Amino acid sequence: MKIIISEIPDDGLDAEFEETVSFDGVPSPVEAKLKIQKVGAEVMVNGNIKADIQLQCSRCLKDFKRDLSFPFEVVFHPVEQLEGEEHREIKAEELNMGFYSNDELDLTDLVKEQIMLNLPMKPLCNNLCKGICPQCGTDLSAGDCGCTVRDIDSRLLGLKKFLEKGT
Ligand SMILES: [Zn+2]
Ligand SMILES: [Zn+2]
Repeated sequence: MKIIISEIPDDGLDAEFEETVSFDGVPSPVEAKLKIQKVGAEVMVNGNIKADIQLQCSRCLKDFKRDLSFPFEVVFHPVEQLEGEEHREIKAEELNMGFYSNDELDLTDLVKEQIMLNLPMKPLCNNLCKGICPQCGTDLSAGDCGCTVRDIDSRLLGLKKFLEKGT
């Protein structure tokens, strides 16, 4: 979905976005309500994005669906402006900044990028997910596999360190 910037009316534009966007090859339904406003050469886009994304649990590696819903705001500058300021460093607060060229703004790219920024770094299917057994690969949330995991109890680890210091 593309917006022609010179066609944005003075009092802004409301856009409803409803598309299937592909993440890691998995098509996911995405909905967004957007408000697009032109301020001089800059274009402000804010709104709310809702998506149902398939993720892979970082502990048990199972695929699961996660509902996302979050507000966002991005200010787009004409790309020509960037070329004029080659040596400028991009500060953290400017991460909510984008660039457009050719009088065009691609809302699909924008929405996709915002979703990527809001995905968890280490997704978990469930906060209580126990993961898989490092020895036999059994899903530990479904039941104990009976393997003996040679994991030193954290209290014993403290004692071990203490003893090592003493020697
Ligand atoms: Zn899991
Ligand atoms: Zn096991």
